[in-house]
This record gives sequence, C-alpha cells and structure tokens, in this order.
Amino acid sequence: MSNLTLSFFGATGEVTGSIYLLEIGSHRILIDCGLFQGGPDVEALNREDFPFAPSSLDAVILTHAHIDHSGRLPLLVKEGYKGRIHTHRATRDLARVMLKDSAFLAERDAERAARKRHKRAKEALEPLYTIADAERTIEHFETHDYGEKIELLPGILFCLRDAGHILGSAIVELWVKAFGVERKIVFSGDLGHRGAPLLRDVSPIRDADVVLCESTYGDRSHRPWDETFSEIGDILSNANAAKGNVLIPTFAVGRAQELLYLFSEHFDEWGLDRWQIFLDSPMAIEATTIYGNHTDLFDSEAKHHQTNNGPLFTLPNLHLTQLSEESMGINAVSSGAIVLAGSGMCTGGRIRHHIRHNISGEHNHLMIVGFQARGTLGRTLVDGAKKIKMWGEELDVAAKVHTIGGLSAHAGVDGLLNWCGGFAGRPAFILVHGEPTATIALAHSLKENHGIDAFAPGRGAVYDLAGLKWIKTHAL
Ligand SMILES: [Zn+2]
Repeated sequence: MSNLTLSFFGATGEVTGSIYLLEIGSHRILIDCGLFQGGPDVEALNREDFPFAPSSLDAVILTHAHIDHSGRLPLLVKEGYKGRIHTHRATRDLARVMLKDSAFLAERDAERAARKRHKRAKEALEPLYTIADAERTIEHFETHDYGEKIELLPGILFCLRDAGHILGSAIVELWVKAFGVERKIVFSGDLGHRGAPLLRDVSPIRDADVVLCESTYGDRSHRPWDETFSEIGDILSNANAAKGNVLIPTFAVGRAQELLYLFSEHFDEWGLDRWQIFLDSPMAIEATTIYGNHTDLFDSEAKHHQTNNGPLFTLPNLHLTQLSEESMGINAVSSGAIVLAGSGMCTGGRIRHHIRHNISGEHNHLMIVGFQARGTLGRTLVDGAKKIKMWGEELDVAAKVHTIGGLSAHAGVDGLLNWCGGFAGRPAFILVHGEPTATIALAHSLKENHGIDAFAPGRGAVYDLAGLKWIKTHAL
C-alpha cells in the first residue's frame, strides 16, 4: 500500500455526497463532507458509519456551502472530529445558515418518524444531527480568502481559487511534499457557469499532477445567455396572458439571489410590474443578506449595477415571506404570483405546498432552474409525469413545466472542457460528481477534444498519488 493515497467515498456515479480522503503517511485530510440527497435508498447512506474514524483526521477543507458538499460535517464533529474546517469566509457565513437548516429538517424528520413509530410501539429514530451539533461545527471553521497559500501541515499547502459557482465557492489547489515525492492535486469542487450573473467566472488552473473534476452537466451544453433571457421573458408573458401563477423551485443559496438580480435587471423587458414576486423562504432571505455582505466577491457588472442603483435587489413588488402564515397566504393569489421557494429539487419545503395548490391548473407554470437529481419530485416533473402523488393524494399535472438549463449554476460541457483543457502538461483526470451518463459523455468529449484519458471511479475507489495509478477502482 502506498503512503500517499486518495480515497473516494461519495459523489461517484452521482451528484451528491462529495467526500474525498487524502492520506499522507499517518496524516489524513478530508476534502468536503457532503450529504447524500435523492431517494430513500441514497439518503440511507448518510446513516452509515464513515469509512474512517473522524477523530483520526488532521484537517478538513470545504469547497463550498451547498449541502451535498457540507451536509455531513455536523455528523463528523458529533462523531469526534476535533480539528479545523478550512474554507472561504463567505462559505462559513452561508454554511452557518445551511447546516442549521439541515439540522432543523433532520430533527423534524426524526420527530415525525418517532410519532409514527410510537404508534407502532417501536423505538424512536435519532435525528442524523441536531441544531446544537450544527452550531458546534461552525466553531471549527477557519476562514481564508481566495489566493492565500496556507500551510496545513508540514509539507502540505493549499490555496482556494474562485470557482464561480455560488458565493465563496472554491477550487482547491493542494501541494504535497512527502516520502520523496511532490504532487499537486486540484479539486474542482463545483464549477460555475461562465457569464452567470453576480459572480466572477471560474478561475483557470494551469498545472497539476492529478485533477478531480465535477461532471454534473458533462452531457449537456447550456443555451446562450441571451436565448435564456428571452425564454424566461416568453414564459412570463404567456403566463401573464393566461392569468396564471409561476412557481420556481429555488435553491436558497445562489439561485434565489441570481434570479432576484436578473429580475431587477430585466424588470421592464420581462414586464415584471404586472406580477407580485414572493421570495418564500426564510433561508433564501437570510442568504440574500449574506450575499449583500460580500459584494467584494461580485463580478464587475454586478458591482457596477450596485454602485449605480444602490442595493442589488430593489424590486418594488418583492415580498419576503418569513412566516408560514404569510407563505400560506400566497395560496389565495390565484394569478399574477411569481413564487420562489425551496427546496430546489422539490423534495421538501414550501414549494411542495405551492405545487400541490397550482400543479393541476393548466394556466400555471413551473420553471425549473436547477439540476434535479434522480428520485426527486423535481426530476419526475421534468421527465414529464402526467400525475404525481403528494401527501397520499394523486394530482394531475396540467401546469406547464419548463426547464431553463441556461440558468444552471454549473458549467455546461463546453465550460468543463474549457477548464480541463487549460491545464498544461498531462495531469491525471478523475471525473466525479455526475450521474453515469453525464460522466461518461464528458470522458468521451475530453478524449475527442483534448486527447485526455479521464477515469470515473466507483464508491470506495483508492488512487495511489505517488505511483499515479489506481489501487482499487471501486469497493471490493
Ligand atoms: Zn454546489
């Protein structure tokens, strides 16, 4: 067995559960510790023991705040991790909100399960972790800026680079000098969509020995921005003519802020004065404030917009609905409401109530603006289901479902090829964070466009960083 290895325990053949373990002799560093999200089979993986002792880790580096990258950190701390969690300062602010929300949902789910089990006189299920665990986790965070080179351990340095995906999102460059070898490993995290509103474009990285690259949209190109903007304009104009409502399942962090920014930029063009816009998510409201506290991370266009027009999100008809009574009040609006609510894949949260209320009305529209993982209600709707089941009730899908791929927070295949093609020399490319069709398509495109041989490991795979070869390609 090599002294220098990288193990893959999540985001292999799937887009959630990112977690990579770097072992340098007796030192152990974890990159990301994400929650598995999707159907019950996938989520059951969150209850499995970590394949290492959390107390044996020396350090953790977190690429960004999204729960599929950060959501098992409280579990790690609960199970004995004592060290630091290194990340960007904006990620710490967003993670505080997201981990507490994730813990709140875990506590609520456990209570519900306990009530059900009580009826059957069985033992109650413990929550995955509690709000107190999430709060303790935040105390472990140590924050950095992009471009700072930090010594993690003797001979091990890292640096965060802007990934342009959500506020604070980072690519991790990591240098290891040990046992007579020197290696540079690059973890892409999630890579942003070039030209996206608000944030700067993804940073190119020029050199590495090993590159882990996400492949979420490895099989798809995004529409150009101007076409996407006119697509949204058309949907809103049709919905307005039909006197319907528009529901937008929204990831609270990132997508909600980008949409509000786009709404303010295209206010007249999209005829938004005819609508009432609801940001129906306490978490999205909080995340919006955090975005406002880190405007130095915005791209030049957004900074310019801000200096000229004051706050980024001045929309005269925007309603921030914190309370659940206010949220329920939206159901009284039979037409002319644009509702941004979570969760982004319709697996929980207030959007489900709005879907239940609106999905059977043919004058209504559902605008899907983010990736929908297998097994989620969002994916079922995108795949064209004519009927859905919610709370035991069967509902006809009559509302029009639109997928606006061009608003994605992830790079499309062109962006991924461009970023991978920017490396000089021939690093080893390892593809992660994608469903198999997307990952395989990206591997083919990398070969075709850049002559790169990329490999996609399975869960449990181990790579020898000294010998630059696979020890195991998946769990035995
Ligand atoms: Zn992400």
